[in-house]
Amino acid sequence: MSTPRSDREVAGQGVVILGSTGSIGVTALDVIARHPARFRIAVLTANKQVDVIFEQCRRFRPRLAVMLDASAAATLAGRLRAAGVDTEVRTGIEELEAAAAHQDAPIVITAIVGAAGLRPTLAAVRAGKRVLLANKEPLVMGGRLLIEAARAAGALLLPLDSEHNAIFQCLPADFTAGEAPRGLRRILLTCSGGPFRRTPAERLTHVTPEQACAHPRWVMGRKISVDSATLMNKGLELIEACRLFGVAPGQIEVVIHPQSVIHSMVEYADGSVLAQLGNPDMRIPIAHALCWPERIESGARPIDLLETARLDFAAPDLERFPCLRLAREAAAAGGTVPAILNAANEVAVAAFLERRIAFTDIPRFIARTLDEVAGGPDQTLEQVLADDARARQVTGELIAAVTARKQHGAL
Ligand code: NDP
Repeated sequence: MSTPRSDREVAGQGVVILGSTGSIGVTALDVIARHPARFRIAVLTANKQVDVIFEQCRRFRPRLAVMLDASAAATLAGRLRAAGVDTEVRTGIEELEAAAAHQDAPIVITAIVGAAGLRPTLAAVRAGKRVLLANKEPLVMGGRLLIEAARAAGALLLPLDSEHNAIFQCLPADFTAGEAPRGLRRILLTCSGGPFRRTPAERLTHVTPEQACAHPRWVMGRKISVDSATLMNKGLELIEACRLFGVAPGQIEVVIHPQSVIHSMVEYADGSVLAQLGNPDMRIPIAHALCWPERIESGARPIDLLETARLDFAAPDLERFPCLRLAREAAAAGGTVPAILNAANEVAVAAFLERRIAFTDIPRFIARTLDEVAGGPDQTLEQVLADDARARQVTGELIAAVTARKQHGAL
């Protein structure tokens, strides 16, 4: 049943969800729906999944919906009109940026996948919003820009990635994004190990996209699922942590923790280690960041430590999972090198999902791109986007050359 707009306007803080049709977007709506007096959906955005966003608009009645894809936007507008839903529909990247800065919403959840989220995330930060960051690639590419823009505009950056949210929960209350917390010695970034934690190296070559997307602990979008399987996700998270918490890559240790109960830890100068625990359910970090410093109900099942029984820890295997090493090296190199790594990864993962390259080719193409594309300064958006574009082109050409040679050989 729809609610008249005049009634909705008085209830709750407005929220924009960038990427509402994805795994994080849908989970965020689940949390928000539990608190109608606190939150109201002001804007939803997606790329082209009309059916999902149509149902979301019917249920949450946002003022505005933005589809990146123009024909999807036209279809959505027609269906909403026919259903008597008065949500306005717009399309294009500029409208996505305008939506991220919408005056009706102080809270923005960034849940677009990949580099496509950089410009809308920057727009939300520049508008001084409370920005709940799930979309990690913008921080990896343009972390310096986002942190500086947040300082200038007074935006509040709150991490939704479960590990970074856990770290944030273990930091002193006066912590500021981009500044190393007082007394912090190191961060212990936990990692489930992904679906191939025990798979021998020789079998990794034959991994299919379906196997790579079947994560043992988390249900996620396809790109992040592949990143979790290659451990590039942990590599991107390492860079994300350096940006958000103002620490050097050498201060971050990645720890394999298959139960995914501890979501990360912080070690202080006195030897104390603080950890955040919980069931692997993204509703926990989403609820935390929505209301921080207040706590609200998330819908997640409470943790049962007796059922968990044991917590295991191990070192990651960098031979079988070279993406983590490549990301650590990119973090140490700085400038636009993380953006180049990220771009090469996005192109290689897309090629793997399209079955054009093998799972084990992903780190090979990233390494070759990093050899061919030199990094530069990351002080402006133009510098970051130029190196991102160069890296995409190089990885695309490398993949095309190899796949053409293979096809030729097969004839
Ligand atoms: P999904 O692939 O499930 O969803 C992506 C969303 O982004 C969809 O709404 C999609 O729209 C939209 N989108 C895709 N491409 C574009 C584009 N070019 N421009 C605008 N919108 C676009 O991803 P996830 O929800 O899994 O992940 C989102 C982000 O959150 C990623 O950066 C991921 O690393 C991060 N993250 C995810 C976690 C998880 O549990 N899933 C955990 C921690 C972080 P459409 O549906 O129309 O294609």
